This record gives sequence, structure tokens and C-alpha cells, in this order.
Amino acid sequence: MQSLSVAMMKRIQAQGNNQEYQKTVERVFSDPQIQAFLNQHQAELTPESVQRDYSKLYEFFHENQLILQNQTSIAPGYQPKLLINAGQIDVAYVPSAQLRAEQRAKELRDRVTIISMPKWLPAANFDDFYTDDQQGSPSRNLALEEALKFCMNYSVDHFQPGLYLSGSFGVGKTYLLGATANELAKRNVKTTILHFPSFVVKMRQAIQNRTLNEERDQVSQAPVLMIDDIGADVMTSWARDDLLAVILEYRMQAELPTFFSSNMTMNELENHLAEDNKDNVEPLKAKRIMQRIQYLSREIDVQGNNLRMS
Ligand code: ADP
Ligand code: MG
Repeated sequence: MQSLSVAMMKRIQAQGNNQEYQKTVERVFSDPQIQAFLNQHQAELTPESVQRDYSKLYEFFHENQLILQNQTSIAPGYQPKLLINAGQIDVAYVPSAQLRAEQRAKELRDRVTIISMPKWLPAANFDDFYTDDQQGSPSRNLALEEALKFCMNYSVDHFQPGLYLSGSFGVGKTYLLGATANELAKRNVKTTILHFPSFVVKMRQAIQNRTLNEERDQVSQAPVLMIDDIGADVMTSWARDDLLAVILEYRMQAELPTFFSSNMTMNELENHLAEDNKDNVEPLKAKRIMQRIQYLSREIDVQGNNLRMS
């Protein structure tokens, strides 16, 4: 222990007369972090000020002990830090690395609005995206590259179409959408990602709750929207005309990038959209919607093995 610390310690020890107190003071002054702090701030401290503010050194020491022993501290998740404030020793509480990481993860999660998507979606990311020979495929790698490019070039002021990922079940279309949304979150961009068939059901309930307009507007206005599994279900004319067409019309006018995933190619989707569940055929309505989709996104046919099997 440095002579300055020893002198200070002796001075404080002299204030008490029981042994327990003497021992505690010694432990406080033997703490490497407290010693480093006193050394670093020698010029700003005097024996009197250290004596006066000894309770702060003790607080720092005690809190650290509680944290080390995994006991409840005054501010769980926060780490005590010694500092000098207007000539006085003080203790500030700063978020621990673990708390900061949790806060950051929550901020990122809050930037992605998820409507009826698989549980693993928040964990999807580019780093774990399969690109090796076994799992990767040229078209999947191309889709990944385009998604990355989108994230790098994204800007609110400059419209960039999203991707329309077509391809069979299990090739990783949804995973890629999720990874893209999570990457955008890191870049401070908010995304809404929804499973289209479930979204239609949800919006039907919204009619009963009289929240349809509000909920549909929120989706229409999302800075980036991802519509997963479009075409997976028979589309009612209501879902087509009052949901999909309204949302896409808004997004085209406002130039808001939109992603899609589908088991169908754009051509196949056009036929699918032309027929509703009552066997009415409306090719013009379908064409109009397809024009919106083509404006808002670029088609990539993703091929590869079924990742659900591997
Ligand atoms: P699709 O939407 O094309 O039907 P999914 O995205 O649902 O396919 O992928 C099928 C399964 O494979 C999912 O369980 C998903 O978590 C997993 N998966 C897909 N792509 C990857 C990837 N690149 N890395 C890790 N897991 C993946
Ligand atoms: Mg999918």
C-alpha cells in the first residue's frame, strides 16, 4: 500500500476503537480499485477530504463485495464507480456490461415489430446464414448478397426496392427476412414483419374491435415492411382488396420498401390473386396489385435443399 493510503487509513482507523471497524477500514484501503483511485487523484485529495468522504469509499467497497458475492446490491445491474465531484469523493452507478448488453438487445428487438412469426425470428442473423457448400446454394447466396446490399444502402430519403423471395418450402426465405430485419435494427431502421395468412385473421378481429384502420395504417406506414408467405392461403376478396391492395397502394405512393416471401413466383401469384375464395376471377385487380409488388420489390428465386429437414 502506498504511504499516502497508509496515512489516510491510519487517520480513519483512529476514529473508531473497535477491532471490527479497524479491520473494515483496512480492507477498504487494501482494495486495488480504491488504491488506484486514490493514487490517480492524489493531487485533488487531502487527508481531511478522504476522512470526510470515507463513507463513499466504504459504499463503493461494500457494493462491489455484494456484486462479487452475487447478493442483491442497491442498484442491481449497475456497477459502482468512484469519482470526484466538486472536490468530493462520490459514487456513481453505471450500467454493468451485462445490463448494457441486455438494454442494447432490447432496443434492437423493439425496432422489429413481429406479427405472428416463428419464435426463432429474433435470433436470425447474417453471420449464421448458411453459405457453405452443403447448406448454401448460388441463389440463396445471391439473395443474401442482395439483402446485405439493401441494408448497407438503406436511406429514408432514397427509395430502394425490397426483395421478393420466391422458392419452395424450407429454403430459408423467412430466415433471410428475419436476418435482414435484425440487421436493419442495428442500423436504427424499424421494420414490421408479418406472416400474411395470420395477419389477415388478426385484421378480421380488428374489425370487431374497431381498430382495423389504425392497425392497417401502422403496417402501411412501417419504414420497412416484410410480408411473409403471401399466397400461402386462398385469398378472400376482402383480404386482397381491403388489406393487401390498400397497404401496397400506400407504400407505393410513399415509396416505402417492402419485402415479400412466397412459395409462388410473381407470375404464379398473379394467377392466385385473380381468383378469390368464391371462384370470382378478377385479372385486372390482380394485375394492379402485381404492379405495386413489382414497384416495391425485386424478385429472386431462391433454390436449395429443404433446411427444415437438415
Ligand atoms: P422458408 O421460409 O423458405 O420456408 P425458413 O426460413 O422457415 O424457410 O427456414 C427453414 C428452417 O431452416 C427454419 O427452421 C430456419 O430456422 C432454418 N434456417 C433457414 N435458413 C437458415 C440459416 N441460414 N441459418 C440457420 N438456420 C436457417
Ligand atoms: Mg417461410
